[in-house]
Amino acid sequence: MICYISLGSNLDQPELQLRTALERLKTDEQLELLKVSSLYRSKALILPGSVVQGDYINAVAQLETKLSAKMLLLKLHEIEVAQGRKRKEKWGARTLDLDILLYANEHIQTSRLTIPHKQIKRRNFVIHPLYEIAGAIEIPGIGCLSDLAEKTSWDGLEKKSSEL
Ligand code: ATP
Ligand code: CA
Ligand code: CA
Repeated sequence: MICYISLGSNLDQPELQLRTALERLKTDEQLELLKVSSLYRSKALILPGSVVQGDYINAVAQLETKLSAKMLLLKLHEIEVAQGRKRKEKWGARTLDLDILLYANEHIQTSRLTIPHKQIKRRNFVIHPLYEIAGAIEIPGIGCLSDLAEKTSWDGLEKKSSEL
C-alpha cells in the first residue's frame, strides 16, 4: 500500500527530530520510504487557554508498506516514544508527532484511526508539503489535492529547505 504520513516537532531540536525519525523509517524492514517533502516551518496553532509554543518543523513522507493501517499506526507510535514523546495535553508541544494522512485510497473510521486524517483540509502545514510530493492526487472524500493546495493560504507557513 502507498501511504502518506505527516511529521511534526516543536521541541528538542525539531529539525534533528525529523531527520532521526526519517532515518528510522528508512531503515525499517517493513517500510519503504519513497519520497520526503522539504522541511517547512509553521507557527504553532494558538488555542484558547494554551501556553505559547515554539514553531513547528513539518514534513510529509510517502511510504510503501504491507502493514495494515492499524499496524502502521503502532509502528509510528513506537517511533514517537523512542524519541521521547510524552502524551500530555492534546495539541501540546511535542518532540515528534507522526500521523497517517492517507492509506491507499481507503476510508477508515475506528475508535483509534480516522483516514484520511480528519484535519487535512484545515492544515496548511500538511496540504502544502503533501502537494509537493504527491501532486494532483485525489483525497478520498475531499477531492483533488491541487485544488485544495491552490485555495490554501501560506499564513504562518514557510518552506525551509529542500535538502533532507
Ligand atoms: P491531531 O489528530 O489533531 O493531529 P494529535 O496528533 O496531537 O492531534 P495525538 O495525541 O498524537 O493527537 O493522537 C491521538 C490519537 O489520535 C492517537 O492515539 C490515534 O489513535 C488517533 N488517530 C486517529 N486517526 C489518526 C491518524 N490518521 N493518524 C494518527 N493518529 C490517529
Ligand atoms: Ca497530529
Ligand atoms: Ca498524532
